[in-house]
Amino acid sequence: MANISDDDVDVEVLVIGAGVVGIYALYRAIEAGFSALSMEAGDGVGGVWYWNRYPAARFDSESYTYGYIFSKELFEEWRWKEEFATQPEIEGYLNHVVDRFGLRRHIRTGTRVVSALWEEAGNVWVVTTDRGDTLRARWVISATGGLSVPHYPEIEGLDDFRGEAHHTGAWPHTPLDFDGKRVAIIGNGPSGAQLLPAIVDDVEAVDLYQRTPTWTTPLNNAPIAGERHQWLSDHFDEIVAILTSSPSGFLHEPAGKFSTDDSPEERQAFYEKIWKSPGFAKLTANYYDMTTNREVNLEFCEFLADKIRTIVDDPMTAERLIPKDHLFGAKRPPFVANYFESFNKPNASLIALRETPIVRVDATGIDTTERHRDYDIIVYATGFDFGTGALTRMGVRGREGLDLHVDWADGPSDFAGFSAHLLPNFFFPGGPHGAGGGNYPRYSQDQVDWILDTLIYAREHGFDRFEPTAAHQDAWMTMVETLAPLSIFSAEHSHYYGANVEGKVRKFLLNPGGRAKLHEFLDEMSATHDFGGALTAVARVSV
Ligand code: NAP
Repeated sequence: MANISDDDVDVEVLVIGAGVVGIYALYRAIEAGFSALSMEAGDGVGGVWYWNRYPAARFDSESYTYGYIFSKELFEEWRWKEEFATQPEIEGYLNHVVDRFGLRRHIRTGTRVVSALWEEAGNVWVVTTDRGDTLRARWVISATGGLSVPHYPEIEGLDDFRGEAHHTGAWPHTPLDFDGKRVAIIGNGPSGAQLLPAIVDDVEAVDLYQRTPTWTTPLNNAPIAGERHQWLSDHFDEIVAILTSSPSGFLHEPAGKFSTDDSPEERQAFYEKIWKSPGFAKLTANYYDMTTNREVNLEFCEFLADKIRTIVDDPMTAERLIPKDHLFGAKRPPFVANYFESFNKPNASLIALRETPIVRVDATGIDTTERHRDYDIIVYATGFDFGTGALTRMGVRGREGLDLHVDWADGPSDFAGFSAHLLPNFFFPGGPHGAGGGNYPRYSQDQVDWILDTLIYAREHGFDRFEPTAAHQDAWMTMVETLAPLSIFSAEHSHYYGANVEGKVRKFLLNPGGRAKLHEFLDEMSATHDFGGALTAVARVSV
């Protein structure tokens, strides 16, 4: 057993990343009296909300349910302008939180972690950055996010293009001038779908390159005015109680009924109501059996298909925009205003890649099997190396030679979506198998709270080490594998299975048991003094 000393570390808690999760983890660590530091690759805080600054990037979870709920004062003083805030407001909010709680002096921006090596003898992580610094930390919380490594498609000639090319997830700080430009958007997930209506009126022409059509529905955003602010402030405790206990982490009121409770006519009227509901309410406030009863889901899809046919003037374009290979909710649907309407503009076109695939990008534009098109700007809205991308690129080496890059090549194995056997004292809230379908920050808050509560408990009870046993991990992974086929996000050709990245193994990357299973596993682990063997003490030496 190692002999360790507290003088052997530079910092007790190292948080990697200063996005939504990292900022909260840093706040909790400092509040608990740990020496703590956050390293952030970006030149500013915000994580995805720092990098994804393309026009009209915004929440599609309600602002006040996505934002922090740990402080009533913060909740009351930050007056969100809209039900679904835009990126500049979100980035402003996260900077406000950092300053309000005195966190900025604990954050090193512009610093990317390039390796994290577990040193058994010192019971310590030795972390190296791209600036050449080395830092020793007792505990590491890697809040590096599931959507932080942009995925560029493997298309021939990508580097040959002489115009401007940008990924939505690595957008330039200087606003792009779309005025009068010929633009290609590749990808129609939530990012591409948000971008198209935002630029269509400025550009000379925009072509949206679509591989798989999506069940996009209107966001139904609204400004938040005085009375609504007051209501939110007055109901803080109630809101926190709902967000903390709801399986999805939203405030949406459930439908309270199954599809079979309504007649066919009543169902159509109900679908109209759902169409007009905000954001994810189309999933969370829909019939209880919408995601389990294939027939009712098909009926709802037909309702949505009719909406697309009604909105889009050109019948051929409308048909191409209607998904044929997955049910509503089986892939993560975008919630965006005026998406389908954009295709009625004379300067907007849909390129259906299933009919005319891209052959190559060249100096002046894009070649499909149909023809060549010239562009000034190409936008890659092609998603991310979801779930594992950042963790496997960070040079993480644990005990007994565990190398995340190698060991997770067949898919990640973990406990509770934030820890792993052979990775002592290393947590990754917001990582793979962490969140189920729902409002991400509410899942990650559950995880961060449990992690910090555990670190406090360890400090109070003389433990220096946390590592889930192989049995803990096996039990969690069995749950993941058993319930994955029952998840609503069942389409295997989605980034939730890693299918969007060429060569990535297809394994389910969400937590199909949701918050209920997360809490069940964590409660069971923390029910004994040593957390079922996950907590251990290491012999200490005085220096
Ligand atoms: P995404 O959902 O993964 O969508 C990527 C798009 O690019 C898909 O349409 C995909 O087509 C297409 N694509 C990928 N590789 C391609 C290739 N080689 N050729 C042609 N098309 C290709 O990515 P995203 O839109 O950036 O969204 C990712 C996640 O970010 C979302 O699930 C969501 O969690 C989050 N997000 C949230 C918001 C918000 O409103 N709050 C906004 C944006 C993003 P296929 O479908 O055929 O693979």
